[in-house]
Amino acid sequence: MMRILIIEDEGKIAAFLKRGLKEEGYAVDVAADGEQGYFLASTQDCDVIILDLMLPGLDGLNLCRKLRAEGNEARILVLTARDKVRDKVQGLNAGADDYLTKPFAFEELLARVRALLRKREAGSPTKLQVADLTMDLLTHKVLRAGREIELTAREFALLEYLIRNVGTVVTRTMIAEHVWDVNFDTFTNVIDVYMSYLRNKIDRAFPDKLIRTVRGRGYVIKG
Ligand code: CA
Repeated sequence: MMRILIIEDEGKIAAFLKRGLKEEGYAVDVAADGEQGYFLASTQDCDVIILDLMLPGLDGLNLCRKLRAEGNEARILVLTARDKVRDKVQGLNAGADDYLTKPFAFEELLARVRALLRKREAGSPTKLQVADLTMDLLTHKVLRAGREIELTAREFALLEYLIRNVGTVVTRTMIAEHVWDVNFDTFTNVIDVYMSYLRNKIDRAFPDKLIRTVRGRGYVIKG
């Protein structure tokens, strides 16, 4: 599960962000000032830090510099009420990856967070594995027990999403959003059809089935 740390002293904004991000399936922690934020950022392994610049105690810019100086590699999205170019440049110079000016729509923040997570993943291993199934994200070669399996681009994306969430049930809503990038609505049949194509290819010929349907909830690939 991806972990996000929100460092924001305005309680309403922090609570609103926390609720929205949790609904998207992220693990979320909140710090209400710079010192607490620094403590959590340096003791937990966060994927993304949402950092307000104007904070009591240690301010956002100094916090950002301090984390980078210590080699912290979390993606940092700076929130600023100030829309002056100078503040944005300072934030980026301090080691932030992106910035967003208040007020902002939650959808926009979510899009930025997802983009940062994709960037972070780009620096991670290029092969995924579950049991005797491996997928190479560069060559798109999929092997099960050493046998090559041909997948379409959509089936590949679906399998990649399942494996990135190995051991966790993914709902059809999550699949619709992450693999198709659409809202759920009337999409359930399409997902079930693609899932059956995928299962035919990776599970049918093997006694040990990797993908399981969880009734009323979604699908899971076992680790
Ligand atoms: Ca503030």
